[in-house]
Amino acid sequence: MKFPTTIQNLIDSLTKIPGVGEKTAIRQTLVMANWKQEDLMKFGRAISALASIKKCKICGMFADHDLCQICSSYERFNSPILCIIESISDCIAIERGGYFKGKYHVLGNLLNPLLGIGPREINLENITNRIHNENIQEIILALSPSIEGDATSSYIKQMVPSEVIVGTLGLGIPMGGNLEYLDALTISKAIEHRRAL
Ligand SMILES: [Zn+2]
Repeated sequence: MKFPTTIQNLIDSLTKIPGVGEKTAIRQTLVMANWKQEDLMKFGRAISALASIKKCKICGMFADHDLCQICSSYERFNSPILCIIESISDCIAIERGGYFKGKYHVLGNLLNPLLGIGPREINLENITNRIHNENIQEIILALSPSIEGDATSSYIKQMVPSEVIVGTLGLGIPMGGNLEYLDALTISKAIEHRRAL
């Protein structure tokens, strides 16, 4: 059976969301087809607004304006601790734990010579400036324990002036473990018990 084009278009769009297969997309579309017009318009507007989402000019997080909520917060931005993460979802995972009160720097990727991802392909450029301008005294490398994560951590460690403390996540993070799939308590504990690199 063929769906009307309007329905099929939404099914096709929903299947682009990670974890949503065709069956789920069909079910969701059929539910939404019964929504009130007002709710559908609101949903549509929320999706279109994503097209104009910005990245924070300082840390690389998603932001409505030039700076994200953390970099706009006086208390957070004045913290001397900078947590370096691979992706925005890692920040969300750490924030869920509620333990870390410093600020972030999103790399966007990890060094991976086999895939052609070198230092220029990741957001390393302004780390040195940030350390200087924001008076950073400690760096936490919250990168996944993997060959790429370790290589990236070593690379950043040698960029950082020796007076800055450089730490990495403590025990509890499995090899190759992605922060976004870990529970909030494990992440908070790993940050609390960070070890010097
Ligand atoms: Zn920011």
